Amino acid sequence: MFDKIIGFIGAGNMGSAMIGGILNASLVTTGQVIASAHSKETLDAIHSRFSIETTLSNETVAERSDILFLAVKPNKFDEVIPQIAPHVKSSCIIVSIAAGKTIAAIEEAFGKEIKLVRAMPNTPALVGEAMSALCVNAHVTEAELSEVQAIFNSFGKAEVVPESLIDAVVGVSGSSPAYVYLFIEAMADAAVADGMPRAQAYKFAAQSVYGAAKMVLETGRHPGELKDAVCSPGGTTIEAVAALERGGLRDTVITAQRACSKKSHDMS
Ligand code: NAP
Repeated sequence: MFDKIIGFIGAGNMGSAMIGGILNASLVTTGQVIASAHSKETLDAIHSRFSIETTLSNETVAERSDILFLAVKPNKFDEVIPQIAPHVKSSCIIVSIAAGKTIAAIEEAFGKEIKLVRAMPNTPALVGEAMSALCVNAHVTEAELSEVQAIFNSFGKAEVVPESLIDAVVGVSGSSPAYVYLFIEAMADAAVADGMPRAQAYKFAAQSVYGAAKMVLETGRHPGELKDAVCSPGGTTIEAVAALERGGLRDTVITAQRACSKKSHDMS
């Protein structure tokens, strides 16, 4: 349990997912979390959902926070950072989750020495299964990084990476839930074509993806080895694998994901 105050500027999809994760994991009490947003409607909803303190004043959140999450869209940074910079404590650890905002750009925007973590979570944070990458600037100590990592681990898994890998992270985890949803949808469509009711088809497809992912994570076996284990000689699975290879599945995924990473790089 932390004894620190954790602040959120922005409480939309990602901000609220992270607040929920931290509270569900009992990492802090509701009295240790404070959030601001643009509208009173959002703050009322956040207050009634989590019973945390909310305010329309970003300055108040900045002043009070020991760990401060910037969870607004990247295009709001030019407005929000000059507003909060004079109010942030020198000991505060600032955590930005904005796509395309580099450590150097955020440091420059603050215009003073800050402790900064650049993070890239993904939306499965909403169900406690995020994959997050963390990069730090020179002023964050090992102990401070561990604290931030514990926060991210409370709503999924988090690893420290060099900032040079952040565009690859956007491709492999930040955006990849969307590709997986397409795959699940396509699997369900095929089952529907074969007569299965749609709701049941989504359940079968999604649980199969979830189970396969868990096999990779928990057995530590190579994905190719796990694939081979499902493919009996002359059996049903190898027919599907052969058709997927004819359709260029791997090439399509690699090309798509690298286009995503390139877009992330171009946006920085
Ligand atoms: P979102 O749902 O649109 O939430 C943005 C939040 O910022 C809203 O609560 C909004 O308030 C608030 N806000 C807007 N202007 C503000 C201001 N001037 N002061 C204080 N709060 C303000 O966006 P999101 O999807 O959570 O994304 C937030 C960040 O996460 C972005 O930087 C994005 O790059 C990053 N990110 C997103 C994903 C993803 O998959 N969504 C993944 C990784 C990282 P109102 O609700 O009142 O409008």
